Amino acid sequence: MIMSKPTLSNPVSVENLLRIREIYRELKNERNDIFGGLPYGTNWIRFRYLKLGTVRTLASVSFSTTTLSIHRLAFEYSNPLLLKGLLHHEMLHLVLGSDAGHKPIFRRIETNWLRYEEYSEHRRRFVRLVEESERDAGRLLRYECPNCKVVLLRTRKMKPESSCSKCCKIHNDGVWSEMYSFIRVGLSDVELRKGDANDRTYESRKQSNDESSNHERI
Ligand SMILES: [Zn+2]
Ligand SMILES: [Zn+2]
Repeated sequence: MIMSKPTLSNPVSVENLLRIREIYRELKNERNDIFGGLPYGTNWIRFRYLKLGTVRTLASVSFSTTTLSIHRLAFEYSNPLLLKGLLHHEMLHLVLGSDAGHKPIFRRIETNWLRYEEYSEHRRRFVRLVEESERDAGRLLRYECPNCKVVLLRTRKMKPESSCSKCCKIHNDGVWSEMYSFIRVGLSDVELRKGDANDRTYESRKQSNDESSNHERI
């Protein structure tokens, strides 16, 4: 019987694989003391996208299958340093092994990278962008009271007759009034462009420092 390699879900496109290979070689040169011992090519690592709709995780590593998962939007971000920093982080995991986790030695080596500060800034910007894109894609609906401007976030649509109870109480003797009906805000054309919005799952996980041997978030 022939055993075939298990297929990889969401493999990165050829174009993006070429970008990854280039960054991999750059990092090997730039940080030769850390990555110099790694193989010349990237064939020993599998690269895939994180599943759509991932919000808090930007990249992760699986040690058992030597697979790196990278956020799809990281390839579309305006500055290539973001992708480089994410790969830098995950490659460091591969070099240091699962036991090192994010322990001080890991942090020290990561932050010693000359471009770490600049990368961190882009990473923060990217996290905000991902959150906004998820919200605008309909994962989180924003509603605003036209009077007091209070904003409510909802995962489902409100009934159209929902009004702001605070304003009805203060300004209308506690009687429902259409004047204080919530208005849906924050929509953009992102929602119209993204046909896959409904297939997404929203993950509101907090960023955590938990270590697990197999999977980790950065
Ligand atoms: Zn109100
Ligand atoms: Zn990590």
